[in-house]
Amino acid sequence: MSAHSLPEHEAVWHSLEVNEAVELLGGNADTGLTSQEVDSRLQKFGTNELEESGGRGSWEILVDQFKNIMLLMLIAVAIISGVIDLLALQSGNLEPGEVPFKDTIAILAIVILNGILGYLQESRAEKALAALKKLSSPNVRVIRNGKLIDVEGKNLVPGDIMLLEAGVQVAADGRLIEQSNLQIRESALTGEAEAVNKRVETELPEETSLGDRINLVFQGTEVVQGRGKVLVTRTGMKTELGKIAEMLQSVETEDTPLQQRMTQLGNVLVSGSLALVALVIIIGLLRGGNLQELVEVSLSMAVAVVPEGLPAVITVTLALGTQRMVRHNALIRKLPAVETLGSVTTICSDKTGTLTQNKMVVQSVCTSQNILKVTGEGYAPDGDFEVDGQSIYVEDYPEVTPLLVPCAVCNDAVLQQEKGDWIILGDPTEGALVTLAGKAGIEQDQWNSKLPRVGEFPFSSERKRMSVICQVEQIDTGVSVIRDVDPAIGNLVKNNENYLMFTKGSPELILQRCTQIFAGNSAVELNQEQRGKILAENERMAGDGLRVLGFAYKPLSEQPPENSEEQYEQELVWLGLVGMLDAPRPEVRAAVNESREAGIRPVMITGDHQLTAKAIAKDLGIANSSDRVLIGQELQRMSDAELEKNVDDVSIYARVSPEHKLRIVQALQRCDKFVAMTGDGVNDAPALKQADIGIAMGITGTDVSKEASDMVLLDDNFATIVSATKEGRVVYTNIRRFIKYILGSNIGEVITIAAAPILLPMGGVPLSPLQILWMNLVTDGLPALALAVEPPEPDVMKRPPFSPKESIFARGLGWYMIRIGIIFAIITIILMNWAYFYTRPENAVAEGLDPERWKTMVFTTLCIAQMGHAIAIRSNNQLTIEINPFSNPYLLAAVVLTTILQLMLVYVPPLRAFFGTHVISLPELGICMGFSALMFVWVELEKIFFRIIGKKNV
Ligand code: ATP
Repeated sequence: MSAHSLPEHEAVWHSLEVNEAVELLGGNADTGLTSQEVDSRLQKFGTNELEESGGRGSWEILVDQFKNIMLLMLIAVAIISGVIDLLALQSGNLEPGEVPFKDTIAILAIVILNGILGYLQESRAEKALAALKKLSSPNVRVIRNGKLIDVEGKNLVPGDIMLLEAGVQVAADGRLIEQSNLQIRESALTGEAEAVNKRVETELPEETSLGDRINLVFQGTEVVQGRGKVLVTRTGMKTELGKIAEMLQSVETEDTPLQQRMTQLGNVLVSGSLALVALVIIIGLLRGGNLQELVEVSLSMAVAVVPEGLPAVITVTLALGTQRMVRHNALIRKLPAVETLGSVTTICSDKTGTLTQNKMVVQSVCTSQNILKVTGEGYAPDGDFEVDGQSIYVEDYPEVTPLLVPCAVCNDAVLQQEKGDWIILGDPTEGALVTLAGKAGIEQDQWNSKLPRVGEFPFSSERKRMSVICQVEQIDTGVSVIRDVDPAIGNLVKNNENYLMFTKGSPELILQRCTQIFAGNSAVELNQEQRGKILAENERMAGDGLRVLGFAYKPLSEQPPENSEEQYEQELVWLGLVGMLDAPRPEVRAAVNESREAGIRPVMITGDHQLTAKAIAKDLGIANSSDRVLIGQELQRMSDAELEKNVDDVSIYARVSPEHKLRIVQALQRCDKFVAMTGDGVNDAPALKQADIGIAMGITGTDVSKEASDMVLLDDNFATIVSATKEGRVVYTNIRRFIKYILGSNIGEVITIAAAPILLPMGGVPLSPLQILWMNLVTDGLPALALAVEPPEPDVMKRPPFSPKESIFARGLGWYMIRIGIIFAIITIILMNWAYFYTRPENAVAEGLDPERWKTMVFTTLCIAQMGHAIAIRSNNQLTIEINPFSNPYLLAAVVLTTILQLMLVYVPPLRAFFGTHVISLPELGICMGFSALMFVWVELEKIFFRIIGKKNV
């Protein structure tokens, strides 16, 4: 059936039989759609994407910008200033040449501009975060053109055959074709937390409610357990989830801790400035000052105290931080993680794939009779089996093939050759086993049809094992069905059983469930001595850092029902051990070292054997020989209080289950640790949510774990966590740096303005609101933006982490701001005092310059002094001459540009008229520059002083 004759109407899929459904959609359950068919269906049905709604609409984001108390205060200033101008206009008191309502218009323009900028930035940040989330959005495994491939979820079309496994988030609605133990959590749709057992065979009445349609799967729901094969029936907005898309909470827009603190800071600044304004007016009036002048001073102070540029700089810094992190393969899903990453004290990491390469190669096979060495590299099924250094034929060792057959069939991975390279689809541990079987000529496809799988008890990290139930081959001769057992496994079904169960998993666990051992050609009783030998061999392999799996089988005369694993995975027959090497990632050693120097403790948490874990941990420098390993079973017995006593010393947890991870995080957090935790499985989600920074694996992680995480490692690599931590520290340091820079200047401005009416007779207001806005936004804003991209200081990873709870003003920042603000004010006030008297009419007339130009000198000094401050503040401890001036070219550019702009305000007539400045002579400009330079000198002297007294600023 071609795409164009597909039913336009919506079929009631749950009331159809599977074949009917497949036929209706012109699909093929075995080979899937062809590429041409997919293309034409994409044209017809569109991509499988939800139009995101929900979250904040554009209008809401815009309105939110004006809810900020500082902007409200500016609006009030604009109105009052407008009223004053109006009164002046009415009474004809306007000064000659003065444009009425200039300040009002300028302030309102800034308020609107600030709102629009904030809006643009926030909506861009939301879009960027949404795009980042999409980057981590799942691929889907489908059958197309008769082959198994992974495609992007958005390219699914109705009629596709999609495969589901534990941990996957279902990418479209569909009708089940096959399933095994499939359980799906549908809380996203139904609100029901319990997972639903799915069934293929049922045809349900049309009126069946959504939650009871057990033969369908729905987009956005999560596979908790089992596997399934699904015919995609609906995609995009046609899915059940699409229908309720408005209810979707799309991108989460949490304020970062910093943004919250900034809101608080806003409140403090606004109330502080109102108090100060009241004080200045009262004192002024008591001293017989002019009310209008005092009101003007107050308005200027109110504008000066608000750091108008700060919110924008913070947003940009966080956004740039996420971009830099993604370039280093760390994808931030929740913005607060950017600034809190630097506070991590403990990184709890999985072993497999994060610390190791997850490229498994089987090295050793151990049966009841022999230990075989296996050669070969990668996943290519080329290599030899050796006994005592001699190559052997596997066929000569009758107990080896029965061990290698389950390697191929008790397995969900697929080995494929792509452009000459052998690659695996699925779990690398399983891939290595398919390769191992291939080396002995045991082809997976062939054996899957000889021993077709009729049931399974799936793997989970808790069970640490899996079983498949295979039917022993039946041949339909056309006359009758005869049983034809391959001689290689004939010995396993000596009593003519029709089914064989193969089990593989953690050797100790499998061995516990064995009562017999396969020895050559039959199963014999397993005695204590043999058990001891097997365990010793397991420990020997694990001690070499190998990941070891145990194999067993059980002949069955009937097919076990679903969920009967406890009953059937007993009294097994032991087959042997397989040990595979998963080499540590070479870059991790250096990363472990770096994290230690940075006061961050790496901890390994693995489901693997304690000796394997220890060998790898030792190799990587995470632990040394004397370090204790805490095993899942011990942990299980410990109370929370006992665990709390241990978490500080233990750096290796082995044979743990996902629920233990949650307890470990909680215990660490109770000991005041700030914990980053990795995870990949469905059941890791609670631990990832609990951790301060939950980290999911980009390559091997399940969709569910990604959904629960704050950050996704695109390369699954431990070293990436460490580099993201470093980036987090840099972001936080830079944020503190420009906050110091901006607020120090605000304090200086406020004090200078407040001092003017007190110190200068008939002085008036040195700075107009417009000029203050210019300083706060442009002359402070541009260098602050450049400081946000300041490269890391050399010691950023040589110091312990700072508490995430510390106030932004901690470690001397608040004191620095006040101190610098006062120095800034003293320098400017001295200049103001001198300039005021120097520019009095008698001097001014002589030079033909405006007597009011002392105000422009104050304005210029405040701006230029900040340029020196920006250069000096680049480092807390290094002197400016010790830093490469070109290591932050943006700052150089910002300083030059800002200085030019400032001079233009004084020397370009239209700008001068608009900003109300006056020409100053070159010597006067030189004096302003000289005073400005004092600021730079002061900050440098402070660094020298702190160096002498041996105090390091951080
Ligand atoms: P990590 O937690 O560091 O990733 P891990 O991969 O060993 O370590 P799990 O995937 O939870 O952790 O596996 C736990 C144990 O289960 C393994 O050590 C192994 O003994 C067993 N195991 C792993 N994969 C399979 C599998 N596909 N089939 C059967 N048993 C398995």
